[in-house]
Amino acid sequence: MTSPPAALSEGSRHDLRHDLSPDAPETENYADGEGSFGYLHSYETGSRLDGPGVRVTLFVSGCPLRCLYCHNPDTWRLKDGAKIPLEQVVTRLGHFAPALRAMGGGLTISGGEAMVQLAFTRRVFAAAKAMGLHTALDTSGFLGPRATDEYLESVDLVLLDIKSSDPETYRRVTSREVEPTLRFAERLAAMNKPVWVRYVLVPGLTDDPANVEGVAKFVAPMKNVAWVEVLPFHQLGSFKWKTLGLDYTLADTPAASAQLVERVLGQFRAAGCNAR
Ligand code: SF4
Repeated sequence: MTSPPAALSEGSRHDLRHDLSPDAPETENYADGEGSFGYLHSYETGSRLDGPGVRVTLFVSGCPLRCLYCHNPDTWRLKDGAKIPLEQVVTRLGHFAPALRAMGGGLTISGGEAMVQLAFTRRVFAAAKAMGLHTALDTSGFLGPRATDEYLESVDLVLLDIKSSDPETYRRVTSREVEPTLRFAERLAAMNKPVWVRYVLVPGLTDDPANVEGVAKFVAPMKNVAWVEVLPFHQLGSFKWKTLGLDYTLADTPAASAQLVERVLGQFRAAGCNAR
């Protein structure tokens, strides 16, 4: 028996949602066919963090990474999201479209990892484009090989998380390999697709100067990268790990200090990146 359709919830990335679709498939190797429904965590309105202008950000479920600092471990499994028909998402987006256009904003799909649900997110992006909205994909790039050129045509901006340059650190942070992300970044550069690179700065984990330098030198020649955004680590997601019974190893890690952020911004700028 499959889950009946649920209602799409407005909420926040900081809300804890889990076990909303217990009979959903595992995330690994998931293929969503026609994309006529999606597994979703929530959506936010009024976000100024996820691309230009004021945006609606849709948080989708499913992620192949296991970042030690993840703020949304309740998006890792499709089972944790609510199963929502595509039409419901598109209709809801349509209600916001006039305001989003007026405020120079648009739609961002974040997660989780949007490219787990490739067909569904492609159709949501296509619907947003048909409404005249700017579209942004927030991704780790790990599933970049899944994205067809047609998929990327419906995406105006990629928010690409490069979580480390050093393969060993990347593996420690995410439990996955860095190569797919780097190759995806190069493909986006070859297409001249606008990108904002994001770097989560975690004291003692991603703050090694050589590791930062590696990302900076990799990104600096890419003319399509408008910004490198340094995102200081914080503890807002720690309660989710505890509630879900997950082993949270960063409980004693401090927030990134202003001095550390300045040092890392300085490294990116010195390499020739626009960093903020
Ligand atoms: S890629 Fe994002 S959603 Fe996935 S584990 Fe990492 S921080 Fe969490």
